[in-house]
Amino acid sequence: MNIGWQFDNTYANLSDAFKEKIKPTPVNNPELIIFNKSLASELNLDFSKIDKKELSKIFSGNVLPNGSNSIAQAYAGHQFGHFTMLGDGRAVLIGEHKTKANKKYDIQFKGSGKTAFSRNGDGRAALGPMLREYIISEAMNGLNIPTTRSLAVVKTGENIQRETALQGAILTRVASSHIRVGTFQYIAARKKKDELKTLLDFTINRHYPEIKDSNNQALDLLNLLIDRQCNLVVNWMRVGFIHGVMNTDNMTISGETIDYGPCAFMDTYDPKTVFSSIDQTGRYAYCNQPVITKWNLARFAECLVPLINKDQEKAIKIATEKINSFEKKYEEKWINMMRDKLGLFGLDDKDKFLILDLLTWMHEKKADYTNTFCHLMNLNPKKDGLYSDKDFINWKERWEDRSSKNNATSKKSMELMRKNNPLFIPRNHKVEEALEAAEQNDLKPFNKILEILKKPYDEQIGTDGYQSPSISDEKYQTFCGT
Ligand code: AMP
Ligand code: MG
Repeated sequence: MNIGWQFDNTYANLSDAFKEKIKPTPVNNPELIIFNKSLASELNLDFSKIDKKELSKIFSGNVLPNGSNSIAQAYAGHQFGHFTMLGDGRAVLIGEHKTKANKKYDIQFKGSGKTAFSRNGDGRAALGPMLREYIISEAMNGLNIPTTRSLAVVKTGENIQRETALQGAILTRVASSHIRVGTFQYIAARKKKDELKTLLDFTINRHYPEIKDSNNQALDLLNLLIDRQCNLVVNWMRVGFIHGVMNTDNMTISGETIDYGPCAFMDTYDPKTVFSSIDQTGRYAYCNQPVITKWNLARFAECLVPLINKDQEKAIKIATEKINSFEKKYEEKWINMMRDKLGLFGLDDKDKFLILDLLTWMHEKKADYTNTFCHLMNLNPKKDGLYSDKDFINWKERWEDRSSKNNATSKKSMELMRKNNPLFIPRNHKVEEALEAAEQNDLKPFNKILEILKKPYDEQIGTDGYQSPSISDEKYQTFCGT
């Protein structure tokens, strides 16, 4: 059966410093739970002639496709600020697939058994968290935010032991690569300049061919990553996404969002929002995400120092200057993003105050972040008394006054708002509802939320409850690595 795999496994050909050659550990009784047909077709893969049983074998790794050369990748990372040797402890890259348009994607199984990097872990993953990654990553894609994707989830037919016994599962993750800031940290820590240069060349070849001939590739790569990560975090802020575990191993060099562990979307606007059960100090709170992005980029810059300039002092000075350009860049991109959310064209000195005053009002009144912008677009499903508040009405008058100075029609302004303000985000209570049902073999709510989140900017019918924040007062909590 020709599925259309076109493997060109370049990472597997790097020296053993970079990876361990290893196959997924076969599982007992794999059963396909969800398969992403439209992603398969984007990848020019055709599974339509393959029955479910065979698909289960493929996406569990029990049967590997021809041309696969599976490896676990080595990497390190700062976890909550502490440097640790990590690596794919429960994942294998089965190969790099090339589409007809010559775009390359890593195909990776997550939860596929122990590797040399497993430390004390069992190499496995539970069904709930893998389905959660599937929903949120596909939602991010629907929101037009760079992200790894999810091609399939299978149940392994084996239980895994966490606090209780849980159903085991494997997720097939698709990424434009899995090179992380932590990959550079791992190689840099080995202090072999030739290995570092190999990783730099690999990265540029894969992601940034435009700087192949530059005079200072390392510095240009740093610059490009500052830009990409800045764009990424601005996008997260736009939709109220909280990654939850922005360790340097969870920051890609491609600029894609990766590692959907304790992430969640904010309902009520509060800059200090944290969902992750282990983030006691709020290191990865909503408002800290830009600060941490810069911190992680500084760790990346440190790795590149030996390649930036032979004179270490000079190299550090140059890299520091670049890193310090982050704030200004972020501030500018953030304010433009907020202008877009408010449908504002052009620049006005007072825009920043207009924006901050709205956010302060939302915070004080515990307004829903997403729905406040829906309200401004006249698309809030709930007639909310909150927006009759005097302060809000005053603010709205200022906004309308500013909008009237737009050098564009109100139609254009609305179009801009519609492109930047989702009507639908993965509401925590709806995600939980879908996961609970899926764990009991009912995939209806799971498929429904996926369908809605494919088009988060569009009005849709039959979506009652999908725009509402949770009514429970209980704080929503998320968990890592389960
Ligand atoms: P994460 O929190 O998913 O970023 O994972 C951090 C590190 O822990 C990575 O090196 C993972 O591969 C590893 N890890 C997480 N869960 C497991 C597990 N069950 N078995 C082995 N390694 C794991
Ligand atoms: Mg990770």
